Amino acid sequence: MTGSQLKSLATSVQFVKGVGEKRTGCLKEIGVETVHDLFYYFPRRYLDRSHIPAIRDLRENTTATVVGKVQFCGIKQGKRKRFELVLFDGTGYLNCIWFHRVHFWQKLFEKGETLAVNGKVGYFREFQMVHPDFDRLSDAGDDDFLNTGRIIPLYPSTEALGKAGLDSRGFRRIMRTALQAYAGEIDETLPAVVKKRQQLIGLQTAIQHVHFPASKDMLRDARRRLKFDELFYLELMLAFRKRNVETRGKGIEFIKVGDRTRQLIAELPYELTDAQKRVIREIRDDMRRDAPMNRLVQGDVGSGKTVVALVSMMMALENGYQTALMAPTEILAEQHYLTIHELLESIGVHVALLVGGQPAGERLEILAEIKSGKAAIVVGTHALIQQAVEYQKLGLVIIDEQHRFGVLQRANLIDKGATPDVLVMTATPIPRTLSLTLYGDLNVSTIDELPPGRKPVTTHWRGDKKRNEIYRFVRDQLGSGDQAYIVFPLIEESEKIDLQAAIENYETMKSGIFADFRVGLLHGRMKSADKEEMMRRFKAAEIDVLVSTTVIEVGVDVPNATIMVIENAERFGLPQLHQLRGRVGRGTKESYCFLIARYPISDDAKKRLTALSETNDGFKIAEVDLEIRGPGEFFGTRQSGMPELRIADIVKDTELLIQARDEAFELAANKAPMQTLNKLPGRAHFFKKYLEKFELASVG
Ligand code: ADP
Ligand code: MG
Repeated sequence: MTGSQLKSLATSVQFVKGVGEKRTGCLKEIGVETVHDLFYYFPRRYLDRSHIPAIRDLRENTTATVVGKVQFCGIKQGKRKRFELVLFDGTGYLNCIWFHRVHFWQKLFEKGETLAVNGKVGYFREFQMVHPDFDRLSDAGDDDFLNTGRIIPLYPSTEALGKAGLDSRGFRRIMRTALQAYAGEIDETLPAVVKKRQQLIGLQTAIQHVHFPASKDMLRDARRRLKFDELFYLELMLAFRKRNVETRGKGIEFIKVGDRTRQLIAELPYELTDAQKRVIREIRDDMRRDAPMNRLVQGDVGSGKTVVALVSMMMALENGYQTALMAPTEILAEQHYLTIHELLESIGVHVALLVGGQPAGERLEILAEIKSGKAAIVVGTHALIQQAVEYQKLGLVIIDEQHRFGVLQRANLIDKGATPDVLVMTATPIPRTLSLTLYGDLNVSTIDELPPGRKPVTTHWRGDKKRNEIYRFVRDQLGSGDQAYIVFPLIEESEKIDLQAAIENYETMKSGIFADFRVGLLHGRMKSADKEEMMRRFKAAEIDVLVSTTVIEVGVDVPNATIMVIENAERFGLPQLHQLRGRVGRGTKESYCFLIARYPISDDAKKRLTALSETNDGFKIAEVDLEIRGPGEFFGTRQSGMPELRIADIVKDTELLIQARDEAFELAANKAPMQTLNKLPGRAHFFKKYLEKFELASVG
């Protein structure tokens, strides 16, 4: 290895003093392979002496961090065998108790060492904590903390890491050595003007102080700087994406808004809501302009997005262009096809459906229709982006339920046309403050109003002991002509078992509780023709009860269905439950949703089910979901194409986010943004994380 490699942040952690082979392996498991990775392995929290109460001053039922010396530790017999450890801090004693794996704990601790413990304070003869979090502080550098009040970083660790000596203390040691050897190699990643304008400290200082803060103020500045970096590059990626779209070339000017569009609106069996009208206007304004449209329409389940899409299609059509509508599932594509076909075929507009499982002959015919332009509107799944599909004159691309498609799939469809206009629709509402970030490259329209006369769906969650009661209620409702969905979960990992359970339940219900009703079964493994037929029959009210796996999750529209029963509701995520519930309450009748949960139910599941029983508002539900899952999970990094954030929090750091956004968009608007960026020696990491994916080559 050459000298220059030795001093690079790309050096393997293996060469950091004190790491060695075994630890290198453990670190790799958590994604830390280079010195750079190690520097970006941030503390999970900090011990700050000014926030540490004396044991004497603890209060029951509060969460606290206490620092003290181990006075006693050992296994105690008694009603339940346990491991006890008594901490003394000069003012009082705190009893820490572990009930499981007592021998493991016994080996871990020693009398006389200094610990920081964090947990809920209880009281039984003296203060106690059960299963507290702990950190060992007996280290040379840690004495500073005890004596001088330095702030101590606490690192996330795992049992495997701990066994390899990489508990919080172990991390502090290697971090210290790594910083001593390599901190000088940390290069600036932000343009000087941005740094100055935002009053940010240098990256090198920031990295040093995020790990070993000299003071609270330094820690705050360090964190602010690092958060800014992440947000800035995230926004820069979005800014480039937006720029790419805008400079993709001149878009289409859809100038005519003719009789057919007006006629379509006039013939709707209802009046458009004000929100729908506003959003249609926004779309029309985009479509008229010569810049390509790149717009997101978000609206809660049932807010009437389909008709908005339909009107946009008519505008494309009247200007001589084809529209492609891409949906995430076959069921949904078929559903859209049926709706659109029904409304447009009668006025002479030919609509084609292209999905995966169609027979070869039929498929060729459809492809020919698309190529010749006979099909003015093409509805389908990701089959639409296959190589073989050629459009005559694709002018408008509509993507439904966007969160399910990766960014790339979106791009592939767009490439099928020459700078078509793009409309993305989603029913997963993003809390308003966030849509700007997540869809930073799109203009956002929100349908924030439901059609009139909708009653909220009355929702109850019950344990499965109440199942019979619930099904008796369902019978009564069916008796008065309503229809019901009964949904069973089906997740990939346990697909076979789940499917079997759904089918068995269907059989039992069909010959049991619903013997005198017409019961149908719908699941993902059925042929598409059979699925379609089943949906058609349910829609035509030839079926009273539709037992299904989650294939009906999105988009299906049967206004006469008023009851939704969800079995094993504890296994579903909040957005999924909300989507499912959105299948009912579409007409003007009173609708019900029953969530049947099987015990034991986790606290998070209880929160989800409770949130759903308390509100029908998709935005509120999204907020609860965000709170429960945190932004990383919520945005589903993989699906949304968003890089994971290490230190910034899109929800809590809104203000910084807006500043970062302004700077990023300003830079991207420069004549040659890449020139500015290329001057930054430390840009490589961020490029890799954020920009690589987004066709950097095409950025000026
Ligand atoms: P989503 O936004 O969930 O896709 P849909 O477009 O499927 O909602 O619309 C839900 C239902 O509401 C459909 O039955 C549709 O015909 C109806 N609908 C849409 N707009 C209106 C309106 N302005 N007034 C009354 N009903 C409407
Ligand atoms: Mg829809």
